[in-house]
Amino acid sequence: MDFRFTPEQEAFRDAVRRFAAKHLAPGARDRAHGPEYPWDVARQMAGQGLLGITIAPADGGQGGTLIDAVIAIEAVAESCPRSADVVQAGSFGPIRVLAEYGTPAQKARFLARLLAGEGVMSVGMTEPEAGSAVTDLATAATPDGDGFRISGSKVFTTHAPYADVILAYVRFAPGVDGIGSVLVDTKAPGVKLGKRARFMSGEEWAQIYFDDVFVPAAMVVLGPGGFRKQMAGFNVERIGNAARSLALGRYAFERAREWALQRRQFGRLLAEFQGLQWKFAEMKMKLDAGQLLLYRAAANADRGFPSAEETAIAKAFCNQAGFEVANEALQVMGGLGYTQEELVEYCVRRCRGWMIAGGSIEILKNRIAEGVFGRAFAQRPERR
Ligand SMILES: Cc1cc2nc3c(=O)[nH]c(=O)nc-3n(C[C@H](O)[C@H](O)[C@H](O)COP(=O)(O)OP(=O)(O)OC[C@H]3O[C@@H](n4cnc5c(N)ncnc54)[C@H](O)[C@@H]3O)c2cc1C
Repeated sequence: MDFRFTPEQEAFRDAVRRFAAKHLAPGARDRAHGPEYPWDVARQMAGQGLLGITIAPADGGQGGTLIDAVIAIEAVAESCPRSADVVQAGSFGPIRVLAEYGTPAQKARFLARLLAGEGVMSVGMTEPEAGSAVTDLATAATPDGDGFRISGSKVFTTHAPYADVILAYVRFAPGVDGIGSVLVDTKAPGVKLGKRARFMSGEEWAQIYFDDVFVPAAMVVLGPGGFRKQMAGFNVERIGNAARSLALGRYAFERAREWALQRRQFGRLLAEFQGLQWKFAEMKMKLDAGQLLLYRAAANADRGFPSAEETAIAKAFCNQAGFEVANEALQVMGGLGYTQEELVEYCVRRCRGWMIAGGSIEILKNRIAEGVFGRAFAQRPERR
């Protein structure tokens, strides 16, 4: 066992760091506070080979491993926390599921624009009545000629206001085995957006309505029975989510550390107060522990999908650690940490969302407990 990066991974990390310090650090504050997607960053990243890191070269990607993509998130977030979302969109999210399960025709239609940083893709799972209980989703796919009519709606969908395409989880038939997924072109007749709203992070989202939207059979990614495969792919998204939690916690930690080495009160540096040293020690322990769990899940996946259990452990821990560390870093910075002059408060707000998004911490702990006891625990009331 070796806990160090390979020389190639180190060289890749250093190259991404240099790119991020030069091109992404300027404007990092404005990007974090703007509601829109950073398209300028997406195009630059496309030019640098930072989109499609985990996607096969035959599909236009870089053919890298999941660890490579995690390294990219970490190196980018050191200079610009918001830009880490672009790495996520290009390598971890539904784009990865499309690359894995999509047909050549589906990939040909959508991948090139996404990998060029010209477009972005959403995943629509959550519905008004199906959040944690995602298998309650009701968006229906009803056969119609050589395709399906899609009716229903999705909430909290990241990128919804400007996505090119939505990987929508739909119901072909009753039960878990009736669930699959389709690619919905957001320009298709019948796709409508509700009013724009903002998450606590400042990002915009809008409810998506599918009003009898026609989707050709050729745009079905996974038919009935595809739900488990879909979730296997979704574990990649969870790794990116965990990586960003930890990376933003680390960003806030580093900023607070620098501050503690320059700010004096009572005639001493903040770093010299034991009450604050112990906070830093706790933060460091959480970051290091999260890092190991994250790397375990990502490294074991290599070029495939990560294990559900290792992902759940990594994500639950990193979501919690990222938020707690960012929050403590803010505390150490006092009033300055609470202002929008610093990105530390942004890191706190952003990390808070990942404790809910992509499988809440509670739902992940349910999954971890299943592994502990070697059995599933029904979450639903017993049927009489
Ligand atoms: C920033 C952000 C981005 C998101 N992006 C997307 C996206 O791109 N696509 C998408 O489809 N969805 C997205 N979501 C939605 C997200 O997946 C859901 O919010 C999440 O699954 C929880 O569902 P809910 O909000 O309906 O909460 P609920 O399911 O109503 O849960 C409420 C609370 O109860 C807890 N709870 C529920 N059931 C149990 C249980 N059995 N045991 C213990 N605790 C339980 C939950 O953990 C939570 O704390 C996003 C959410 C956020 C916050």
